[in-house]
Amino acid sequence: MRKTLPILLLALLLPVVAASAKPPRQLRKNAGLHYLDDHFLRYDSLQKQLHGLAETGYREFRSAELLCRHLEQHGFRVERGVAGIPTAFIAAFGEGGPVIGVMAEYDALPGMAQDTVPFRRAPAGGGAGHGCGHNLLGTGSVAGAVAVSKWLAEGHRGTIRLFGCPAEEGGGGKAYLMREGCFEGLDAMLDWHPDTRNTVNTQTGLANVQVRFTFHGRSAHASGAPEQGRSALDAVEAFDFMMNLLREHVPQTTRIHYVITDGGRAPNVVPDRAEVLYYLRSPQRTVVGELLDRALKAAEGAALGTGTTFEHEIISGNYERLPNRTLSELLYRNLECLGGIRYDARERAFAVEMLRNSGITDTACLARVSRVEPPSDEGLAAWVSSDVGNVTWGVPTGSLRIASFVPAGSGHCWQQTASGGTTIGTKGAMQAARVICLTACTLYTDPATLARIRAEFLERRGPDFRFEPLMGDRTPPLPL
Ligand SMILES: [Zn+2]
Repeated sequence: MRKTLPILLLALLLPVVAASAKPPRQLRKNAGLHYLDDHFLRYDSLQKQLHGLAETGYREFRSAELLCRHLEQHGFRVERGVAGIPTAFIAAFGEGGPVIGVMAEYDALPGMAQDTVPFRRAPAGGGAGHGCGHNLLGTGSVAGAVAVSKWLAEGHRGTIRLFGCPAEEGGGGKAYLMREGCFEGLDAMLDWHPDTRNTVNTQTGLANVQVRFTFHGRSAHASGAPEQGRSALDAVEAFDFMMNLLREHVPQTTRIHYVITDGGRAPNVVPDRAEVLYYLRSPQRTVVGELLDRALKAAEGAALGTGTTFEHEIISGNYERLPNRTLSELLYRNLECLGGIRYDARERAFAVEMLRNSGITDTACLARVSRVEPPSDEGLAAWVSSDVGNVTWGVPTGSLRIASFVPAGSGHCWQQTASGGTTIGTKGAMQAARVICLTACTLYTDPATLARIRAEFLERRGPDFRFEPLMGDRTPPLPL
């Protein structure tokens, strides 16, 4: 244990170094980092397999199994099907404390299929694709956990626990793992997400709920006997109208969006069933709760006025994030030491071509992937939600963003599916794995930092905290 301390201290004291895909020479004495340097092709192949499978939330059977088997091959004890979800798993290596967690995601987005070419081309048949780079998120986190296990195997004390978290996209998988106590007993959690830049995410994001409202009316011939009908679509429209009026009378940081997922089949039939899906978001989950209460009142009013009935189902719910400055600073120092991403000539040509095909002529944005950017102001909310938010209230959590996509799109786009399936994506995943490994090693050997992380977490969370899942006691929305 002792011989690694100077290396880690050096890692913390080093000034900003030139961006490089490889860590400075001293850091490479770390067995975990060494392992990652030697196994790029193995993880390139793993991320490409996940990219090809592109399984959507709660259906990631083969993707989860690929990751479980890889972890077992490296001596991890794997528990499959945790929290009653077949594609959730926990893999552990090592003994005793500290216990450090790493989260992996591997679900794809419906309709985002795209070949790994620098122009828009969906494979025949379309289907789901990794438009959010969760093929990389799963691979990078698993690679990071395996790297940590190589370091622990040298005789260090501690446990690394990799959490296989399904259905981040709309399924809120981690909320169920949190509700079932899967994250208990951890000292810290390390998390990352593919991005177009390298930084540490200290923003709180938005809490949200996803709610389905279903209205029931009475069917009739729309022209022959309209007086006998009660339109469920009318109810949806009345409800949406009231929700749109509501926008002016909510805190400005609120986000409300909806799609009508069932509006009937034919104009000459009064629809007896209609359905609308809502996302309600706010930087504070208490506001989300108030919004939901008001939405239920609006639905009640719409049903009353149209002679229909309604029911609602909360599909998923996420807390806003609870940042941890101490852990974020440690992650940032290690990220600075390791640097950003360097494209080789082939990758650069791919990126330039993709920019051109996205209407971007100025290639200056490519410099961003090689830089490390300081975290943004914690007070500003990022306008997105994630089920990671739930976990941050149970365990002190630090989140990285690593440049794993060509910066040619705005997120959930073909450019991300395409570039995330190439070595550009693998480089991002491996850099995330390096930062995770280095940070975990520091946490195992620096009890004072771990204590400061814990103290900050408890102070920010406040006394008497109890996790109350926003989706209530419902079972996970598993496919039938
Ligand atoms: Zn994502």
